[in-house]
Amino acid sequence: MNDLKDLYQEVILDHQRNPRNFALLPTANRHAEGLNPLCGDHVTVYLDVQDGIIRNISFQGDGCAIAKASASMMTSVVKGKTLAEASETFKRFHQMVMGEDPCFDLESVGKLAAFSGVSAFPVRVKCASLAWHTLNAAMNAKVAGDSAAAVTTEIGKGNTK
Ligand code: ZN
Repeated sequence: MNDLKDLYQEVILDHQRNPRNFALLPTANRHAEGLNPLCGDHVTVYLDVQDGIIRNISFQGDGCAIAKASASMMTSVVKGKTLAEASETFKRFHQMVMGEDPCFDLESVGKLAAFSGVSAFPVRVKCASLAWHTLNAAMNAKVAGDSAAAVTTEIGKGNTK
């Protein structure tokens, strides 16, 4: 079990050092900004959604190691998924980091399980889930042209206006 934990930490460190999809996305038709004032993490998630599928995704921002690694892994996991699949993955990730279900099947979230240990650290839960809440806001945002969605971890469970 310890080896498994080490592996998970390796995954998080890897994503923090070499963030995936860390860029602007010129083809984005939806985006949202997220803020975690408690830690100072901020992230903007850009989505290129075509026919209900996330064709491309990127993020920008800055924050602690957990927030950056989580955003990086989130983008690599949901790219190519349908909006419904991405939404389901968000729910599972959220359940996992909130530690809501002790029988949670970690295999169902793949490498996202690297963040399961976060549930033991309430302050870090917001860091780990920020990018996901922001993704959720972006998925629910209207297409480009309308005002961008914004999300903050300080609004409690509701994450859109
Ligand atoms: Zn943080």
